[in-house]
Amino acid sequence: MVVARSVEEFGKVRSGWKGSVGFVPTMGALHEGHLSLIRRAREENERVVVSIFVNPTQFLPGEDLEKYPRKKEADRKICELAGVDLLYMPTADQIYHEDELRIEAPKIRGYILEGASRPGHFDGVLQVVMKLLNIVRPDHAYFGKKDAQQLALISQMVRDYFLPVEIVPCEIVRDSDGLALSSRNIYLSPEERRRALALSRALKRAGKQIQAGEREAEAILETMRQVLEPEVDELEYVAAVDRSFRAMKRIEEGDTILLVAAWVGRTRLIDNLWV
Ligand code: AMP
Repeated sequence: MVVARSVEEFGKVRSGWKGSVGFVPTMGALHEGHLSLIRRAREENERVVVSIFVNPTQFLPGEDLEKYPRKKEADRKICELAGVDLLYMPTADQIYHEDELRIEAPKIRGYILEGASRPGHFDGVLQVVMKLLNIVRPDHAYFGKKDAQQLALISQMVRDYFLPVEIVPCEIVRDSDGLALSSRNIYLSPEERRRALALSRALKRAGKQIQAGEREAEAILETMRQVLEPEVDELEYVAAVDRSFRAMKRIEEGDTILLVAAWVGRTRLIDNLWV
């Protein structure tokens, strides 16, 4: 496995490659969720690139940029064992320039739900993903459904800017108790972790209610609130949207995503269910 730190180093290795390239962008502190994306990229491509970059522009002032978990050495080993060809770990000054051109998230879909709670977050996400896609030039780029709105906006950017890459959505990986894996789960105390299970439990119960025939989005969201409110410290939102992130009044199987964002202690958690 080659480790590249600059665009030039990366380009030298990349230019010698033939065949398809799969790309998994991450912020590191790799877990089984990331690994499932890497494995899928490994199965579907000649070459696999993983990037690790804690992107400063997607953190709002006061968020956890400084304390975001960084595990360089462990991450390197995980990538090596997973058969990654190239691990790209740039520094912020290689990625960003002074007074640079900016990509902006769409005014509606970029500013509802996650975008309302974290205004500007998706501008930073799209800015860095655009750069990474242009540096890596992958055929396929792998993103988790865990970050459903991010996935929808990146797919929109690829469409709106005619980027020559296929975005591959990947299933959410959970712990055996249901908690969706996240690098931020390490912030949770044992007691908070127990309460955090309310997110996946609420989604599961909502899923069952839909299976039993309920189609009114408001009834489903009310069920989720009832599970969540006794357990979490602050419920930011529950929502039912279609795959393009338009709000839905009636659930449509095959086109609905149920979403939740909540604080447990000082940790903000998100989860969702694709119905
Ligand atoms: P991050 O390092 O949090 O930026 O995540 C990098 C990629 O891994 C994103 O596409 C995430 O959606 C994906 N990812 C994170 N957690 C999970 C999970 N539990 N299951 C599936 N994909 C995930």
